[in-house]
Amino acid sequence: QAKQLGRKRFVVFDEALAKDMVDVLTMESELRKALRQNEFEPHFQPIFRLGDGQIVGYEALIRWNHPQRGLLKPHDFVRIAEDSGLIEAIDWRLFEMSCRMLAQKGPAEQFVTFNVSALHLRHADFDTRILKMLERTGLASSRLITEVTEGALLDNPESVRSMLDRLRVAGVGAALDDFGTGYSSLSYLHSLPMRMLKIDRAFVHELDKVGSKNSTTVVAAILALAHALNIQVIAEGIETQAQFDTLLSMGCEMGQGYLLGRPAPIDEWL
Ligand code: C2E
Ligand code: MG
Ligand code: MG
Ligand code: MG
Repeated sequence: QAKQLGRKRFVVFDEALAKDMVDVLTMESELRKALRQNEFEPHFQPIFRLGDGQIVGYEALIRWNHPQRGLLKPHDFVRIAEDSGLIEAIDWRLFEMSCRMLAQKGPAEQFVTFNVSALHLRHADFDTRILKMLERTGLASSRLITEVTEGALLDNPESVRSMLDRLRVAGVGAALDDFGTGYSSLSYLHSLPMRMLKIDRAFVHELDKVGSKNSTTVVAAILALAHALNIQVIAEGIETQAQFDTLLSMGCEMGQGYLLGRPAPIDEWL
């Protein structure tokens, strides 16, 4: 009986799992090779001031120029890069490229943001490493904004808070990403050293729909609280003129989205 059970298990393993495992291992070795051969690059999505249409900064979003599969997005590989522990090396490479590109090409008043995951925030020397990178790349600290999600903050709120605070003192800002999707509690926002807050595109998407009264109320509440706390607001995922108009009329200062500009190589913008 035990033998039978064992055989059955083996069958299950053989089919799905084995293929998954091969895929994961293949991807891992490809990721290693990609790091060696510099196949990662940031695409920049412009962030606009809604009032006058000026580009005030860019979000750096990772892309992988895969030699066979073409341009890959985070969805295609970040999960495996995280599980294999490679994401940190990949991210640092990307952060450094993004800072260097903006320092060399961007007007001095434009900033760059990049996405910092919980893994990075676990390192007590994350802030000093960021500051060293800024020195190396020549980007003024005031031009860098780290994007962190609420989930990443939950991990170890006290140490993350003091880390972000040390960065703030050094001039580096922080933005709370995907606001409204996580464990959002409007009430703890005041205790975080955020320069900006990014309203998740799920809310923006709802804005121009019939019966969108609820999301309009939520966005208005987010804007009111952020502004009372001296935090600037970026709306994510603006896709229609109606969404843009509503956000502008509600006093949202910045936005990004396909209506305004898709993520693209830096040469597209600078
Ligand atoms: P995110 O930080 O919320 O980034 C915004 C995502 O929304 C980007 O997808 C962007 O291309 C997409 N987007 C922008 N405007 C619109 C719009 O108008 N409509 C729609 N439907 N989507 C829009 P992307 O580049 O695929 O990135 C997905 C996620 O991957 C990011 O979400 C971020 O969490 C993560 N990510 C991106 N770059 C990095 C990186 O360098 N390192 C790490 N660890 N994660 C990254
Ligand atoms: Mg982001
Ligand atoms: Mg976001
Ligand atoms: Mg989002």
